[in-house]
Amino acid sequence: MTTERVRLMIPGPVDVDDDVLAAMAEPVRPHYGDEWLAIYAEVIEHLRQIFGTRNDLFLMAGPGTAALDAAFGSLMRTGDKVLVAQNGFFGDRLATMARGYGLDVRHVTAPLGEPIEPGAVRRALSAGPGVQAVALVHLETSTAVLNPIREIAVAARDFEVPVIVDAVSSLGGVPLPVDEWGIDVCVTVINKCLACPAGIAPFSVSRRAWEQMEHKGDRGHGWYLDLETWKDYAARWASWHPYPTTLPTNVIYALLVRLRRIMAEGLETHFEHHLHAAQTVRAGLRRLGFEMFTPEACASPLLTAVRGLPGMDVEDLRRYLIEEWQIMVSGGLSELKGQIFRVGHIGKAASDEYVDRFLAGVEAYLRLQGYHAPLGQNGD
Ligand SMILES: *Cc1c(COP(=O)(O)O)cnc(C)c1O
Repeated sequence: MTTERVRLMIPGPVDVDDDVLAAMAEPVRPHYGDEWLAIYAEVIEHLRQIFGTRNDLFLMAGPGTAALDAAFGSLMRTGDKVLVAQNGFFGDRLATMARGYGLDVRHVTAPLGEPIEPGAVRRALSAGPGVQAVALVHLETSTAVLNPIREIAVAARDFEVPVIVDAVSSLGGVPLPVDEWGIDVCVTVINKCLACPAGIAPFSVSRRAWEQMEHKGDRGHGWYLDLETWKDYAARWASWHPYPTTLPTNVIYALLVRLRRIMAEGLETHFEHHLHAAQTVRAGLRRLGFEMFTPEACASPLLTAVRGLPGMDVEDLRRYLIEEWQIMVSGGLSELKGQIFRVGHIGKAASDEYVDRFLAGVEAYLRLQGYHAPLGQNGD
């Protein structure tokens, strides 16, 4: 290799361990039959532990968006009311998806950088009957705000409305006990907190969600993205091929290698790894004079959103880190572009090696730009 690979410190996809990459390179396995079903069953069992659920759990080939799309289209008929909580880019995306099914979208919003208030969800649900689901993001990746899912799920439960959670950037990185918190459809991907290559969206479906689908009859929203298709195959083809289509078996085998490692180390250890990285990054940036964008009370250990220093060209800092330090961090999305940058603490980005290199790179940039920051604290 002539050029050094850039290190990913973005909120996914993330750099993947060598043993996971090597697992991808094994000969292709068919997506059915006894050998494969044993692998599949072990993956599902590890994921149940991580989701904290005994609900049905599936692996959808596709991005997280595919499984979220399926949740909207399966739980509701065209014209049904859905309440979407929005406090950033990915919450807005949920509303767009819901409109794609012709749903009547009601909104609860919070300003960028602030969490959704459970009381606001409760008020919206009591304002009028007929809402068929509440949908929201757990970690709003655009602002690094962690929404209070537990309290919001309690509110939805009081109104007997199922909850759809986009946990794409959080599940597997922080505790999100699906059954204990009463989440009906919980969607994640394997290329963020689980640190695998992209290609699979694991998601869980509660009994209440199945009952709602049965009650609605045919929603007429496709076949692959109709969750009842998935339920049907899981039952009918259980001993051969318990999903409707081909699966990317190399990716799922890599996932198994990764899950075995996470479970062997223990989930708590896995979570603490992120916390340690987040604390080191935040302390280092504060020493350099930066302010965090996300209030501490709703920040997560998975991602740090940082305001640029006064007058700083944040995009120039990002370019410099890629070119000179081979470190990629994310910028701001939409209105926040140019104002903030976002540093991921998942996958290899949580390692001391990545964290130290990132802080040294930022410090070197400030020195180059002539900032009067208390320098010399993060080493070179
Ligand atoms: C990354 C992300 C998505 C998009 O995931 P895809 O796998 O690209 O569909 C959705 N929601 C959140 C919160 C994300 O962080």
